Amino acid sequence: MHAAPTHHAAAAHYIPENLPTRIQHFIDGEFVDSASGKTFDVLDPVSNRSYATAAAGQAEDIDLAVAAATRAFTDGPWPRMLPRARAQVLNRIAEAIEAQDARLAELETFDTGLPITQALGQAHRAAENFRFFADLIVAQADDTYSVPGRQINYVNRKPVGVAGLITPWNTPFMLESWKLAPALASGCTVVLKPAEFTPLSASLWAEIFAAAGLPAGVFNLVNGIGEEAGDALVKHPGVPLISFTGETTTGQLIYRNCAANLKGMSMELGGKSPAVVFADADLDAAIDSTLFGVFSLNGERCTAGSRILVEASIYEDFCARFAARAQQIVVGDPHDPKTEVGALVHPEHFAKVMSYVELGKSEGRLLAGGGRPAGLPEGNYVAPTVFADVAPTARIFQEEIFGPVVTITPFDTDAEALELANGVKYGLAAYLWTSDLTRAHTFAHAVEAGMVWLNSHNVRDLRTPFGGVKASGLGHEGGYRSIDFYTDQQAVHISLGVVHTPRFGAR
Ligand code: NAD
Repeated sequence: MHAAPTHHAAAAHYIPENLPTRIQHFIDGEFVDSASGKTFDVLDPVSNRSYATAAAGQAEDIDLAVAAATRAFTDGPWPRMLPRARAQVLNRIAEAIEAQDARLAELETFDTGLPITQALGQAHRAAENFRFFADLIVAQADDTYSVPGRQINYVNRKPVGVAGLITPWNTPFMLESWKLAPALASGCTVVLKPAEFTPLSASLWAEIFAAAGLPAGVFNLVNGIGEEAGDALVKHPGVPLISFTGETTTGQLIYRNCAANLKGMSMELGGKSPAVVFADADLDAAIDSTLFGVFSLNGERCTAGSRILVEASIYEDFCARFAARAQQIVVGDPHDPKTEVGALVHPEHFAKVMSYVELGKSEGRLLAGGGRPAGLPEGNYVAPTVFADVAPTARIFQEEIFGPVVTITPFDTDAEALELANGVKYGLAAYLWTSDLTRAHTFAHAVEAGMVWLNSHNVRDLRTPFGGVKASGLGHEGGYRSIDFYTDQQAVHISLGVVHTPRFGAR
């Protein structure tokens, strides 16, 4: 069966008002161009035409940004402010994000091709990140260890310094907030290098932060290409820690480049997460969730459940029902609130996803999609694509596609399901659907994934650990773990009595 979706939203191209045509850096409280004057073109994913030029940061721009962030850290008030005072600024930031959620969402949608309803949800999540870390630093308590009558030892927590933040293009503003909020809450100053495909929304931070009372120099933004601006940030000796979200291969390179300065690193990398559906599952709920899990955010989601494993006795039924729904998904203009899948971010990424769609036709049985949707001859649109009977050796089973493409594979036993689930290099998330409590927890504990959702789709409590295992990342953020990353925990020891020291040289 080769079926393109019958439903698509109007192919009109909405252009937000007052769209900037020039995107600059923000260094030491000022919008500036690159010292070299270099720029790069920014495309929108519906027309694939350049709508703006962005400053292309080089090492000298990173130097200026790091110098400003260092001054703000060494001499400025931010790291020394009481947690409550920092929290007040963070709460004002959250309010400002919410107050302009519609504008933020329309810019994000225009730049990324994400459906507008989902971009709006991401804006709210960004606000919540600030509110959450504001609460957390006010409630923060550190350990004291008492040795009665002899010693008290306590933890003196200090911000590490200038944090280098490097982010991907899939949900740009939200992912930036995920790093900015804990870094700023901890008292660090920052240099942010956003993804070059989607630099538009990051410029909004500058005004939001200034209006909320963040001192100049605490937040610095350098746009640019990963191998230039990103590389210079990673290698800068004045930046003691790098928080990176992106592809696994980029993470590996950054890991090597951080070694020279022994930097602190947090790596949130790629995924190829399994959604495992047992015969005893609530099938209606499992179908809703597995569809949303792989096709929301255009499939450009690190935690996408992009490999569905289904118990043999319900396999054909599941495939038929899943494919029928996939064919009904509304693909089209990202600004149309009816749209469920928009346009992929960039023609290069579109070409990559389409190459996997073509490959899949020889590696699996095509049940839905399989190319560009009918009625959308231009723009980076891919019909939600479903391949069944995919063997674990297939490339579409093993490799992260990062688009609206899913594989379905049958299994007979729990042991086989586990082997399939764990049989890839990634280990970010896993989704399990079963009504058997023992099986659910036993499987959850054995599956190689940093995060597991049982009979639930990807709803995250901000207090929980976030991160992957294997090739999906290194280190966990989320809740206090994020604060731990951006702070040093210095141990201070005090003697309470006579100090019993071996008396060298006292003869
Ligand atoms: P990418 O690795 O190509 O780029 C990410 C960022 O790194 C960009 O800002 C880029 O400019 C920069 N960069 C590239 N080369 C660099 C270098 N040599 N030195 C320093 N910086 C460099 O990733 P992408 O294509 O933007 O994003 C998609 C990837 O991100 C997917 O693999 C996805 O799974 C992953 N992702 C992971 C998570 C997570 O939390 N685990 C979340 C979202 C996305």
